[in-house]
Amino acid sequence: MTEATGKINLLGLTQPEMEEFFDSIGEKRFRAGQVMKWIHHFGVDDFAAMTNVGKALREKLEARAFIRGPEVVSEDISTDGTRKWVVRVASGSCVETVYIPQGNRGTLCVSSQAGCALDCSFCSTGKQGFNSDLTAAEIIGQVWIANKSFGSVPAKIDRAITNVVMMGMGEPLLNFDNVVAAMKLMMDDLGYGISKRKVTLSTSGVVPMIDKLGEVIDVSLALSLHAPNDALRNTLVPINKKYPLAMLLAACKRYVARLGEKRVLTIEYTLLKDVNDRTEHAEEMIALLKDIPCKINLIPFNPFPHSGYERPSNNSIRRFQDLLYKAGHNVTVRTTRGEDIDAACGQLVGQVMDRTRRSERYIAVRQLNAEADAAHAATNRT
Ligand code: SF4
Repeated sequence: MTEATGKINLLGLTQPEMEEFFDSIGEKRFRAGQVMKWIHHFGVDDFAAMTNVGKALREKLEARAFIRGPEVVSEDISTDGTRKWVVRVASGSCVETVYIPQGNRGTLCVSSQAGCALDCSFCSTGKQGFNSDLTAAEIIGQVWIANKSFGSVPAKIDRAITNVVMMGMGEPLLNFDNVVAAMKLMMDDLGYGISKRKVTLSTSGVVPMIDKLGEVIDVSLALSLHAPNDALRNTLVPINKKYPLAMLLAACKRYVARLGEKRVLTIEYTLLKDVNDRTEHAEEMIALLKDIPCKINLIPFNPFPHSGYERPSNNSIRRFQDLLYKAGHNVTVRTTRGEDIDAACGQLVGQVMDRTRRSERYIAVRQLNAEADAAHAATNRT
């Protein structure tokens, strides 16, 4: 990312890109590793703090580059250790990042777009519409901010973030290049050194990009399924009209087969009362997934204002889970620990706090984004 000054933001550069940058300013390529460690392992955003970089080079970097993540608007920490950041990106919109601790695992749920164009009918992000793609720096910047907030520096010691899921706001495959660059940095030892098995991209089903993803990276894949047949999925996840289930599941199978190593697809299925939670839906799902190596996460819907959907009863959820389990599936239900920590695709706005605070958070983020849109429109008018 460059800005009006012509300076480049080093935060989002992958290792080869960083080496190219040093080449371009007439410096040795090994400097890339030194600077990346300062940025990602130590959370440094000031060249003056890079003590193993000579003064002349530090001054050169100051003149040509900068290191900047998204602006932190708020950070909430719940009693169970869940953390949530609202960050503002260059377009002026706000997105959310959530950290969910569970046993030895700490999962960071990262956003890829401000808003989303895909308009899934049950999704709070979809209701905001699309605002902008995040840059690679804004995506990896969410990991950078979270890592710094834990004081886990260098990153490998007592690391708080063990897993990253691209399940935040937006459809990651519609911001392909920036998401791939950021995921490479998550896995790079000069970045955050997270295993490829522990970096997961979740998609609602942009079929051509699933194949393209398999050509460039080997992260884990999750599919936001949410319906077991095309007629229902067309109403819940409209992109299904373009890429129906047969085409989508074939692409997912190809992706997972390419990974090898007994890796499986994760199926995300949001349970909506009387919409997709009946016995016949479970039976259709069993038939649909019979040849696909997968594990299933059932996500009881978390209502938000004006959603028009309800959460099923605990009995319905258990019945649905039992049907899948008896058919031989590895199936879990994302439950709460007093308050909901769900972080499903695009449902980040307000799923961590209690219901009142969820509503407030939802409204607050929508207001921030509405203000940004108004400011943007005013700028364009002048
Ligand atoms: S569920 Fe995911 S793909 Fe669908 S509108 Fe929400 S963010 Fe976009």
